[in-house]
Amino acid sequence: MGLNKQKSAELFEAAKKMFPGGVHSPVRAFKSVYGPPLFIDRGESCYLYDVDGNEFIDFCNSWGPLILGHKHQRVIEAVKKAIDKGLTFGAPNAISNQLGEIILSNHRFIDKIRFVSSGTEAVMSAIRLARGYTGKDKIIKFEGCYHGHVDSLMVQAGSGLATFGTSTSAGIPESFIKETLVLPLGDLNVVEETLQKVGDSVAAIIIEPIPANNGLLLQDIEYHRGLRDLCHRYGVLLIWDEVISGFRVGFEGAAGLYNIQPDIITFGKIIGGGMPVGAYAASSEIMKCVAPDGPVYQAGTLSANPISMAAGLATLQTCLEDGFYTTLEDKKNLLIDTITQEIQSTDIDIHFQSIGSIFWLTFSNTRIFRADQIDSSSMDLYKELHRFLLDNGIYWGPSGYEVGFISSAHTEDILIKAGKIIGAGIKEISNK
Ligand SMILES: *Cc1c(COP(=O)(O)O)cnc(C)c1O
Repeated sequence: MGLNKQKSAELFEAAKKMFPGGVHSPVRAFKSVYGPPLFIDRGESCYLYDVDGNEFIDFCNSWGPLILGHKHQRVIEAVKKAIDKGLTFGAPNAISNQLGEIILSNHRFIDKIRFVSSGTEAVMSAIRLARGYTGKDKIIKFEGCYHGHVDSLMVQAGSGLATFGTSTSAGIPESFIKETLVLPLGDLNVVEETLQKVGDSVAAIIIEPIPANNGLLLQDIEYHRGLRDLCHRYGVLLIWDEVISGFRVGFEGAAGLYNIQPDIITFGKIIGGGMPVGAYAASSEIMKCVAPDGPVYQAGTLSANPISMAAGLATLQTCLEDGFYTTLEDKKNLLIDTITQEIQSTDIDIHFQSIGSIFWLTFSNTRIFRADQIDSSSMDLYKELHRFLLDNGIYWGPSGYEVGFISSAHTEDILIKAGKIIGAGIKEISNK
C-alpha cells in the first residue's frame, strides 16, 4: 500500500534538475528516510496538505516558527494589512517599533535588539559583536549544538584530545577553524581547563541553552550556572543561541526559564511567526558597539521589513496571552502520555526527552545529554517509524535527530489520535 506520492515524486525529479539535491535546505531532501520529500501545497491549523492531496498532522511546524500552527487568523490578517501598504521600504517603520517594544518590555534579560533576516545572520552578527566588544577572537562552542551555517561555527571536535576541531563543511578556511574550540556538553571541568589555557583570547562561549538540533540534549541548570560563572571569571561573553528556545519554552525563552542572564541572546524562528526574521539582543552597554552607534558593522536590505515584522508581532502578541505556555506544555504531556500508554506492553528501549512544547523520541532507556551518547544505528528504527507515520497521516522531522514541536493549533482530540498512531507505529517497528 503506502502513500500516494506521485506528484511529489515528479516535482522532486524536476527540482533535482534545477537545485542541488532538489532542495534549498539539505534536510528537506529526506536523505535519512524513505521516499521523495513531500511537496507541500498548503497548511491549515495543525494540518499539512501535500500536492497529492494527503493530509498530515504536523509536528514539524516549519522547524519551529509556527508556534500557532498554520495560517493562524491573527497572523494572516496582520500580514495582509501590512501587504496592502507595500512590501519593503528600506526605511524605518512603526511596526518594527511595536515588535521591539513588545519584546523588550516583556523580556527581563535584554535592553536593546537588532532585527535581521535569519537565525544564521543573528548568530553571525552576535559573534562579530562579541569579538568587537571584547577585542578577542576565539569562540568556544559545544559538540551537538547547531548555530546556523556560520563559517566559524561549522566545526566539530577533532579526534581524541586535539585542541582544534575540523570543519563540518567544505569551503571553510583552516584559519577560521583555528578560532573555534569545540568542547563536549555537560562538562564544566573541560571548559575551565580550556579557559585557564586560552581564556585571554576567547571572546565568547556560545551555546544553545536548550540544545535542540541534535536530539534534545537538555543540560542541568547547575551546568548553565557554572558556565555563567566561568564566563564572568575569565572575562568571556556568554552567548545563548535561543533561535529555537526563544519564545518557545516561555516568552523569555531559556533565560527566563533558568533565570540566568546571558550577555547576548540570538533569536529566530518564532520571532518572525513564519516569515524570515532573526535578531540579536543584549544590554545597552554591549549593543552600543553596533553600527551606527559603534564600530561593529552589520546591515540588511530587508531587515525589519514590515511584512515580517507584522507576522512576528501578531505571533508574539498571541504568545503573551494568559496561560499560553502552560496550555502548550500540557498538550505536549498529553501526547507523550498517550504514546507511552500505547507502548506499555512492548519491550523496545525508547523514551521521550522534552521541555515545554519541544519533544524528542530516543531509542534508548537512559537520559541522553551529549551528542556522542546517541546510538547512530537506532536511526534505522527511526527510518521505519517515519515511513509508518507518513503512511498514517503524521508528519515528523525527516531524521531521528530532529525534535518535534506542539503548536497551539493542536487540539487535545488530535493529540490523542496522533499519540495512538505514533504508539502503533512504535509497536509495529519493535515487532520487526
Ligand atoms: C534554526 C537555528 C539556527 C539557524 O537559523 P536559520 O534561520 O535557519 O538561519 C541557528 N541556531 C539555532 C539554535 C537554530 O535552531
